[in-house]
Amino acid sequence: MSDLQNRAKQHLMLHFSDMTLEPEDIPVLVRGEGSHIFDDAGNRYIDGLSGLYCLNLGHSHGEEIGAAAAAQMSTLPFTTNWTTAHPPAIELAEKLAELGPPGFERVFFTSGGSESVESAYKLAVQWHQANGEPQRRKVIARRDAYHGTSLGALSFTGIPVCRTPFEPLAVPTSHVSNTNAYRHPAGGEGDEAFTAALLDEIREVIEFERPETIAMIIMEPVQNAGGSITPPAGYWDGLREICDEHGILLVSDEVICAFGRIGTWFGAQRLGSQPDMITFAKGLTGAHFSMGGLFLSDKVAAPFLEGTNDYLHGITFGGHPVGSVIASKAIEIMEREDILGNVMANEEPARAMLEGLKDIPIVGDVRGMGHFFAIEVVKDQTSGEPLTEQEAGWLLKDVLSDKLWEGGMICRLDDRAEPFVQIAPPLVADLALFEEITAIVRAGLEHAAEQLESGVPA
Ligand code: PLP
Repeated sequence: MSDLQNRAKQHLMLHFSDMTLEPEDIPVLVRGEGSHIFDDAGNRYIDGLSGLYCLNLGHSHGEEIGAAAAAQMSTLPFTTNWTTAHPPAIELAEKLAELGPPGFERVFFTSGGSESVESAYKLAVQWHQANGEPQRRKVIARRDAYHGTSLGALSFTGIPVCRTPFEPLAVPTSHVSNTNAYRHPAGGEGDEAFTAALLDEIREVIEFERPETIAMIIMEPVQNAGGSITPPAGYWDGLREICDEHGILLVSDEVICAFGRIGTWFGAQRLGSQPDMITFAKGLTGAHFSMGGLFLSDKVAAPFLEGTNDYLHGITFGGHPVGSVIASKAIEIMEREDILGNVMANEEPARAMLEGLKDIPIVGDVRGMGHFFAIEVVKDQTSGEPLTEQEAGWLLKDVLSDKLWEGGMICRLDDRAEPFVQIAPPLVADLALFEEITAIVRAGLEHAAEQLESGVPA
């Protein structure tokens, strides 16, 4: 046990963590290099989750990005985007308009993902007010989805363990099925039938809630929580149609999926979807600064550009000049190193490697895209029988987690919905790293399968 672990135990309140854990069970991570991270004892791990799906450029561009930050700090460390502007935010917004989907020209900057999501909601409410529909306040989101933990964003998050203690939540939200084909009753019927079933459910919810009360639908291009859940063909086109039919705004929450995670600048571009707003954060700066934003289509921006409709929202550090130059530098590096090309080139071979794990009897589904994959762990591969809650908790937390750490990898093991192992390495990672990851996951899953065979300890 190190002194740092002791001090962590004494003074930190870790996020979503069991604070009864012993100091020696708190990893203290001190240094990064490429796609690897080192703890205070000098052990090296693959950063299989890019921090938290955000360290898209890996750990080796800090000096270059830091130099840009230092230059900005000595020129103008801070000024706001509250009624004033400054070159770093202007340049970044202009660059995003160049990289984004057609019809997206305007950005509202925030300090992170939850703020971006809440900014979208407030904008939606005001947009409807400007259009004479102040009663539109409700939201539709998906089960198991994570949209943040601050009280507004939490309303949209569809994970009971995160929500329930804080109910009733601020924004009335209905949660519909997510697009996990492996678990949905219509998931095995082909994309057309599956999409139709999912969209029918949304239509029913809209009718039940009354269309004229609904402000927006918020969904991720690839849903993170629940395990890299991709949409079936036609799903986003269907969402667009439904939203147009009922005057609802469509928000693509790309806090994870933007900036290359699924191979394009914005997730909407990969899926060919047509949202009204896009929320982003994490990868914008490659996690070198806490910054996010809300991308407004011309349609939603319009009422705020005329008359007296101020957007009644502001965040002190939204559009921070240092954050903005960091983001611009991160984007410059992404372009220079063809990060999107790397992700697209890796996607299929990486998928094939992970699919190869299906000879292990507890591997159920393998899914995802870009550098964003999940392996759903089951009791029985043939029937797809899920693990019980007790089995899943034990297998992930007591067996697999230790084995993956021992093997030298940090990734995500999540059993809040069906249990899965999630793999989302930095976007600079190559196929050799995916091979290493696959070998470590294989060793872990084979060990877990053997342990399960021997039975869960009482
Ligand atoms: N939306 C999505 C899709 C996310 O994945 C997250 C965080 O993981 C958030 C919103 C919240 O972002 P933050 O933790 O920066 O507030």
